[in-house]
Amino acid sequence: MRLYNSGSRTRELFKSDTVNMYACGPTVYHYAHIGNLRTYLFEDFLRRTFEINGKTVKHVMNITDVGHLTSDADDGEDKMVKGAKREGKTVWQIAEFYTNAFLDDIDKLNIKRPTIMCKATDHIEQQIEMIQQLEQGGYTYEVNGNVYFDTSKFDRYADLANLSFDSMQARVESDNAKRQPQDFVLWFTNSKFGDQDMQWDSPWGRGYPGWHIECSAMASHYLGNKIDVHCGGIDHLSVHHTNELAQSECALGVQPWVQFWMHGEFLVTTEKMSKSKNNFLTVSTLEESGYNALDYRYMTLLTHYRKPLQFSWDALTSAKHARERLHKKVQGLHHAGALVGDVKLSELNESYVTRFMSAVNDDLNMPLAIAVLHDCVKDHDVSENERYILVEWMDRVLGLNLTLSQVIPPKIIELADQRLKAREQEDYARSDMLRDEILSLGYTILDTKEGYIFK
Ligand SMILES: [Zn+2]
Repeated sequence: MRLYNSGSRTRELFKSDTVNMYACGPTVYHYAHIGNLRTYLFEDFLRRTFEINGKTVKHVMNITDVGHLTSDADDGEDKMVKGAKREGKTVWQIAEFYTNAFLDDIDKLNIKRPTIMCKATDHIEQQIEMIQQLEQGGYTYEVNGNVYFDTSKFDRYADLANLSFDSMQARVESDNAKRQPQDFVLWFTNSKFGDQDMQWDSPWGRGYPGWHIECSAMASHYLGNKIDVHCGGIDHLSVHHTNELAQSECALGVQPWVQFWMHGEFLVTTEKMSKSKNNFLTVSTLEESGYNALDYRYMTLLTHYRKPLQFSWDALTSAKHARERLHKKVQGLHHAGALVGDVKLSELNESYVTRFMSAVNDDLNMPLAIAVLHDCVKDHDVSENERYILVEWMDRVLGLNLTLSQVIPPKIIELADQRLKAREQEDYARSDMLRDEILSLGYTILDTKEGYIFK
């Protein structure tokens, strides 16, 4: 596998058989925008590509439920409090509600759930410990009750973003208490946002952590001192990831902390769309407009992750039609049955295996991988059964559920999830009622050890 490393700005060979992967997760104060979800889709393609290469992936993602600092800088508005006021809830309720909404979205997009998802509020102790390590190493200072990271103490601070140290001043809001504009807060006791519900005791007083420290602390807690791949949106590169790297290398005394930095590009909306009233696009808005979340997944496969993705309703409609046609063609292939478990690649058509693997292993060239899949589906020189098996194998990376006989409508999945919850709470009357409702919509639900399946 060759992957583009933002750290070295070159394509490098990825060698390790086990992959410690850290991905910056959502701030849970609102629904995720499909632009944010593009990043998680890219990370899912990456993870699945590692897996099809036989690598074992430990994928850790944080949930930022301490929402005070969510801008690219280390300041900005308090979005959790804003969300709570907007909806008349507490910040804790907001965090729980939008964490669940995020999980629903990634399930619908067929993004594999991370091996570990960790909340910032569950790891305050680890964050305090890391700040103490930085303090002992002489990397911090305290002003007006807040603890800052002193970026002048870390020579390589500007390296990741490939900028000059001086040019990095412009990224952050001015704060007279800082020794350098580039410095950032590790712990607040003196909040510019006034009273907060989310506060904890610390050696520096009662307060809450800065935004960047949670990723460094949780990454080392779950993955140790070395990370193979750290990914996120390109907007994280010059501030958040730069600050994470500084904290981790200084606190842990390692270099490099991360082998591969990988960043997904933005989603760009057309002028027409940005003028429309409804330009905060979520998975639900797509569904309400008659699309399946997988249409969007298919659409993101058509543009390389390091290129901006142009979103328009027309492009989404073309993606929908293409995915539906592909699904229908695959369903029409005469086959002996779906594959379960490992595929013996040596028994599959060598040309398609090679072409597909070289596409995905070439820095995740998914547009080419999709083209290989289309070629394979219509190749009459290959038996229908073998084509079907090849599709199933390729779809382990693409994640389009092409060999499932039908895509289960989100409404059915929602009811099934509610039923699962009812069963967990031993509310069998409700569970039975939901089963009947699902049945009336044409689906039979069967319980399994892991949850449920549809028939
Ligand atoms: Zn992060």
